[in-house]
Amino acid sequence: MNKAQIIADESKYVAQTYMRPDLVLVRGEGVYLYDSEGFRYLDLMGGIAVTALGHSDPQWAEAVSDQASLLTHVSNLFYTEPQIRLARQLVENSFADRVFYCNSGSEANETALKFARKYAREHSPDRVRTKIVAFTGSFHGRTMGALSATARSKYRQPFEPLVPDVYFAAFNDQESATALIDDETCAVIVEPLQGEGGVNPATQEFLGLLRSLCDRYNALLIFDEVQCGLGRTGTLWAYEGYGVRPDIMTLAKPLAGGLPIGAALMRESVSQVMDPGDHGSTFAGGPLVCRAAEVVFERINRPEMLTAVGQKGEYLRMAIRQINSPLVREVRGRGLLIGVELACEARPLLKAARDRGLLVISAGDNVVRLCPPLIISYDQIDEAVSVLEESMSALEVAI
Ligand SMILES: *Cc1c(COP(=O)(O)O)cnc(C)c1O
Repeated sequence: MNKAQIIADESKYVAQTYMRPDLVLVRGEGVYLYDSEGFRYLDLMGGIAVTALGHSDPQWAEAVSDQASLLTHVSNLFYTEPQIRLARQLVENSFADRVFYCNSGSEANETALKFARKYAREHSPDRVRTKIVAFTGSFHGRTMGALSATARSKYRQPFEPLVPDVYFAAFNDQESATALIDDETCAVIVEPLQGEGGVNPATQEFLGLLRSLCDRYNALLIFDEVQCGLGRTGTLWAYEGYGVRPDIMTLAKPLAGGLPIGAALMRESVSQVMDPGDHGSTFAGGPLVCRAAEVVFERINRPEMLTAVGQKGEYLRMAIRQINSPLVREVRGRGLLIGVELACEARPLLKAARDRGLLVISAGDNVVRLCPPLIISYDQIDEAVSVLEESMSALEVAI
């Protein structure tokens, strides 16, 4: 099929829930993507913070291909080895004692909220404790439960009524959190570094306060590290940068290097509230995705890799700050999850950059988000910054 045919068929046969540029991607290698016309793009969005090892990593591809010809799926009615090996790695390298597998970020958050509701029932059987506290600017996913904890009304409003008893406090606002978290609260869910909401890092004081409020009321603290976890911020988990530990942490995006996976990591006492049959998934934790995830985890969980992510992130933020365009209002983020707040809408800049061979995404209306593969080189960062600079100058003229 040629490009025009693909685009025409998409508009005819696929539900129109996405706005896509006229770009058909056919191949990827490292930090580069190639379209159907043979044009090359420098990829600073990494499939929305997913392809941490870049595209078509040879070791990852070999593991996937080997496992596909060995065993792909049998359901969770049997033991399979990659699932167990990966769980051991995740547990031995985090606060957690156990892992529940699922297939996406939304599902990981559904899992966390279900565990939290059951935990509250088991631990205070005489009282109704179903309240969930989330925050402004949050994004936890599109399924009904995860959506209930997602702040943006544009995503919520058409689908109401959502799961009841979810309330929003202001992100990074200690007074607001203190006013809302109480003895009816079963869980507090927060992204240590908000992604979709505009790349907003939580403050140390704020996460510390949430931890102590959850301790006071025996509520579970859930960190959604679907986007910011697994090396993205320069530490294996974003929470390490704060010294505050959650009771449950959700993971997904980068974990299997581009294959669908989700996971909820949790403390033993949380895990104990669920009995066999209480929760489950047909596909989750299959041998293929887990084998892929083992490669990703092993490659990212190395001191030299994590240190490099921190340094490259710092370098990239500094370079953008030096662009000195009136369009740039603020540059923020941690590691290689960076938000550039603009004085204008982000969309025209995404297009200007794309036309010059650079792929970036937005986070909200006026923030450009950079979340490249973690293997990006300094030369590629320089290349990206110079294209961004050119794109900004082009826009300044246009405005
Ligand atoms: C992307 C994202 C989700 C939802 O993940 P899906 O895999 O799209 O369901 C949840 N939380 C955060 C922080 C995310 O960035």
